[in-house]
Amino acid sequence: MAAAARLDLDGNPIKPMTICLIGAGGFIGSHLCEKLMAETPHTVLAVDVYNDKIKHLLDPPPPPPPADGGQQARNPWDGRIEFHRLNIKHDSRLEGLIKMSDVTINLAAICTPADYNTRPLDTIYSNFIDALPVVRYCSENNKRLIHFSTCEVYGKTLGSYLPKDHPLRKESEFYVLKEDASPCIFGSVEKQRWSYACAKQLIERLIYAEGAENGLEFTIVRPFNWIGPRMDFIPGIDGPSEGVPRVLACFSNNLLRREPLKLVDGGQSQRTFVYIKDAIEAVLLMIENPARANGHIFNVGNPNNEVTIKQLAEIMVQVYSKVSGEPPLEAATIDVSSKQFYGEGYDDSDKRIPDMTIINKQLGWNPKTSLWDLLDSTLAYQHRTYAEAVRMAMVKPVAS
Ligand code: NAD
Ligand code: UDP
Repeated sequence: MAAAARLDLDGNPIKPMTICLIGAGGFIGSHLCEKLMAETPHTVLAVDVYNDKIKHLLDPPPPPPPADGGQQARNPWDGRIEFHRLNIKHDSRLEGLIKMSDVTINLAAICTPADYNTRPLDTIYSNFIDALPVVRYCSENNKRLIHFSTCEVYGKTLGSYLPKDHPLRKESEFYVLKEDASPCIFGSVEKQRWSYACAKQLIERLIYAEGAENGLEFTIVRPFNWIGPRMDFIPGIDGPSEGVPRVLACFSNNLLRREPLKLVDGGQSQRTFVYIKDAIEAVLLMIENPARANGHIFNVGNPNNEVTIKQLAEIMVQVYSKVSGEPPLEAATIDVSSKQFYGEGYDDSDKRIPDMTIINKQLGWNPKTSLWDLLDSTLAYQHRTYAEAVRMAMVKPVAS
């Protein structure tokens, strides 16, 4: 019996699409590929310089033909994902892939804060210059574009400029971040932390202008701290020993090595964390509902999961102890200055609460997973994936 047709939010059947997914081998890309393979009939042209995080989805080497001459076994997604190892900085194959696709999704970026102030040129090139041909090819070939920006384009909240005990700090207009109303507030140019946010803001403005002047069909996504399995790397295991990933991987690394979690400037900044699997549902709704998603900028986050970074560390310590069966360290956290941790030119977003009005109205999307539950499954994954490798790395004798 044929499977029932998938319907969009307006009850229309969804036709199978070809999706050019740039940055498919990263954290978000790998989860999106999994979702598209498992739940949709769409085809993915997966573009990246790496593919380790999607190896499990790419065509495995063909198994030996069955002895009885019967049908060759195939993977369940039957060749609907094709990997193209290319660097979008300089590869003439990119336009061809965009032309072959119904929609292009651009995830490619340098997006780890430790790079923003230490490699500002690479950060600006990656987030602005390298994205330009993608926008141009979509515009010139009348192809739809879903571009990944960041919540960091909001920068700091209006409230952060008020005295600590000022009553206006409690008013939502001073901290809730709205796509169509909030200003973008960055620190001075010497604070190179903002090189990423500024490059992302300029590419957003360019895409918006392509929509206004040349009719580009676009959607811009502003992720608010999506976290889950396969995010970044564990230094010295599947990434450079000196590398500094985002906070989930930094704290996971500390927990795996049984060392105190480092709280930058006391861990007073606040973040809202959303489970990657919830967030991917929102992206799928955008892909499959172009009439509702085109021309919009969407916050995608979980306003109910707000914590200070210090609170995040405390919860991760408890959850890790539960999933690993190891007692927590007595002194589980330690304060470090941002200058020590990130170097000169670091600055921070104070608080990030996404307004959810637009995504609710257009796509009816809401996040589901609590912070405790998402950390429980994520840290179980980290423990399962890395504990043994970290243990082995820590007992290895140092070469004399
Ligand atoms: P990621 O680093 O895991 O993935 C990015 C992928 O892009 C990597 O696999 C990388 O190899 C690839 N890439 C980079 N430059 C490339 C190039 N020149 N050519 C080909 N491939 C290239 O990051 P992620 O967390 O999956 O983020 C994806 C997007 O979402 C980024 O644009 C990021 O700015 C945005 N974002 C993510 C979050 C989050 O919470 N994860 C928050 C804000 C914004
Ligand atoms: N942070 C921290 N310890 C770490 C890594 C990060 O205290 O080991 C802080 C960082 O200063 C920031 C927050 O955690 O306030 C979130 O950092 P992340 O790298 O995840 O990205 P951001 O949300 O700033 O884009």
